[in-house]
Amino acid sequence: MTVPPLDRSTIWPYEDGEPGEYHYGRYRNPTQSAAERALGELEGGEALLFASGAGACTAVVLAFLQPGTTIALAEGAYYGTSVLFRELETWGLRFVEFDQTGEPPDGVDLIWLEAPSNPFLTMPDLAAAARHPAPVLVDATAATPVYLRALEQGADYVLHSATKFLTGHHDVVLGAVVCRDPGDAQRLGDLRGRTGIIGSPENAWLLQRGLATLEVRMRRHTENAVAIAKRLTGHDAVEHVRYPGFGGLLSFDVAGGADAARKVETGTLRILNATSLGGARSTLETRRRWEGERVPDNLVRLSVGLEPLEELWDDLNRALSR
Ligand code: PLP
Repeated sequence: MTVPPLDRSTIWPYEDGEPGEYHYGRYRNPTQSAAERALGELEGGEALLFASGAGACTAVVLAFLQPGTTIALAEGAYYGTSVLFRELETWGLRFVEFDQTGEPPDGVDLIWLEAPSNPFLTMPDLAAAARHPAPVLVDATAATPVYLRALEQGADYVLHSATKFLTGHHDVVLGAVVCRDPGDAQRLGDLRGRTGIIGSPENAWLLQRGLATLEVRMRRHTENAVAIAKRLTGHDAVEHVRYPGFGGLLSFDVAGGADAARKVETGTLRILNATSLGGARSTLETRRRWEGERVPDNLVRLSVGLEPLEELWDDLNRALSR
C-alpha cells in the first residue's frame, strides 16, 4: 500500500474469544500505532499520542507524580504549561520555576525543560539536567527531532504539541510523549486508556503524513527564519530579537511599546495575526494578551512559515514601517 490506511474503527473482533492487540478504540488503534512507531523512530524511543499537547502534559503528571511532589519548570516555557500546573495544585502538585540555561534546583521530582522555550527562545542545559537525580522531560515542540533528539542526551521523556511543526498545517490538535524506558511507556499507555486522553485516528494519520515532510519543512522554516531574524536585528523599529539559530519560531520587541507592537501585528497581510505556531502559513501575535506581565508588552511572537522569503519580509517590513 502506498498510503497508510486510516482505520476509524472503535471495535475489533476478539481473536479466539479473547481481546487481541486492538479491541476498543480508547486504548489503541492501528493508525495511531503506525504514527507512534514513526515518531518513536525519529526520537529514538516509544511514542504515545494524546488528544493535545496539554493532554500529553496532564498524562505525564498523572502517570509519574503524586500529591506533594514538585516539578522544576523552565522559566519562560509555554505559559499554558504553568497554567496547567497551577490548576493541578488543587490535587497536590507543586512546581517551581528555574533558569533552564543553568543547574536545576535540588529537591525536585521532575525536571521540565523546553527546547527552545516559547516565546523566550532559550535553550536548556541538557547536560546539567541529566546530572540531576530527577527524571528529565524536554518539551521539544519547537525544535522537533530534526534539531534535537533529547533522549540521546539523557532526557527520559520528550513531549510535543504535535499541533505545531510535526503536523505542520494548522489543521490538527494532537500531543505526544516519547519515553526512553518501555516500562514508562507502558505506564503512560495504561493511564491514557483509563483517562481517555487519546487522539483521533484521523489526527494520527495526519501526523504520519506530516512526518514524511518534516525534515524538508523544518529546513525551509529555518532558512526563512534565519534570514528574517537577521533583517529584524538592526531594524530601526525593532529593539530586541530572540532566535536560537534553528527552527521557525522567533520573537522580537517592537520599538515604541505596546501600541507600536499592536500596529505591527495588525498590519501584516500575508502573515496571519493569529495564535499558535509551526504551520506552513506564518502567524504572529503580541503575547501580552495571553501571558500578562511575564512578557514585555511590545513582544511579538512570529512563527515563520514556508512562504517565499521576500514576500514574508515585504509584508513584515511594511507593517514595521507603519
Ligand atoms: N508545549 C508548547 C511548547 C506549546 O507551544 C504548546 C501550545 O502552544 C503546548 C505545549 C500545548 O499544546 P496543545 O495546544 O497542542 O495542547
